[in-house]
Amino acid sequence: MAAVLTRDIIKKFGETSAVDGITLSVPDGEFMVLLGPSGCGKTTFLRIICGLEQQTSGDLVIGGHVVNDAPPRARGVAMMFQSYGLYPHYTVRRNIGFPLRTQRMPSAEIEKKVEWASRLLGISNLLDRRPRQLSGGERQRVALARALVREPTALLLDEPLSNLDAKLRASARQEIKLFQQRIGVTTIYVTHDQVEAMGMGDRIAVLDHGRIRQLGTPAEIYDNPADLFVATFVGAPPMNLLKHNNGYLGFRPENFLPKEMVDDGEFAEFSFRVDRSEYLGSERIVYGAIEGAEAKQIITAKLPPAHVPEESIRPGEWHAFAVRNSALRHFDSNGKRTTRH
Ligand code: ATP
Repeated sequence: MAAVLTRDIIKKFGETSAVDGITLSVPDGEFMVLLGPSGCGKTTFLRIICGLEQQTSGDLVIGGHVVNDAPPRARGVAMMFQSYGLYPHYTVRRNIGFPLRTQRMPSAEIEKKVEWASRLLGISNLLDRRPRQLSGGERQRVALARALVREPTALLLDEPLSNLDAKLRASARQEIKLFQQRIGVTTIYVTHDQVEAMGMGDRIAVLDHGRIRQLGTPAEIYDNPADLFVATFVGAPPMNLLKHNNGYLGFRPENFLPKEMVDDGEFAEFSFRVDRSEYLGSERIVYGAIEGAEAKQIITAKLPPAHVPEESIRPGEWHAFAVRNSALRHFDSNGKRTTRH
């Protein structure tokens, strides 16, 4: 296993800077998530690390060696793509062993490694099938086995769960995470899904326009977003924002509660008009407006249904809501969080 370090990596396609100066240190064994919207440069950055794309400038260090000009095979990293890229006419066995065959490894050794990787991923019973005879989740495991069979020093995963349905995604998330913890391989995982990022990452790098907006643990990113981009990209529904003293006041929907639930300690009080509410089983999302805020601004509250029954909060009603001061976040006029919290 190996640490991955990038120093001021820039990648330009003509006038477009797909990656605009990324410096990132991923220690040995860490699960690092790159999170960002479509087009922010995640895939390009991953392709640079594995050597499928050459950076315009900057250094890449894997396992202590500068590998700026090393061919992909010499870097010891494996990449798994969103599309999996399995060969449809090959069996699972042949698909998994493919990277080893291109290295001209003896067949007996290939067979041993294929058995090892397929056992690790629980797909030993599928080795003689072809990809079309597999479910989406099984295909994903085959692709992962193929990435692992070379025993890479680092594993690069590009939106590996995006082809799965919601239920399978949740279980695949657990599987990948447990598996990564077991073998301890340094992992860089690209996604635009903040739930995946929060649930899987030891740390998250939030990217926007080819740059890191914030690097931190899921809790740091969620509780103390560095700027408005991170504050509104991470969290669903996003953080509420109100214009306030030349800047912004931010608070998460789950911290915006009926005043009687917030009456210990210091809090900020608001008059909240309920427009609509959604019952989602474990929570009730209420959409409305705050007196004095801009007319079109929708404010959301995420409420525990057991404490706030539907009849107590009907559309059109005004209620006293509040946020504990400790849950308020302050942003300046440039959108940067100020150091008050
Ligand atoms: P997605 O989540 O949609 O896959 P991404 O964050 O992975 O997006 P990239 O695919 O890395 O984003 O693309 C970053 C930017 O670079 C985009 O503006 C894209 O149009 C541009 N880009 C990527 N590859 C090329 C290329 N080969 N030639 C020109 N522009 C490119």
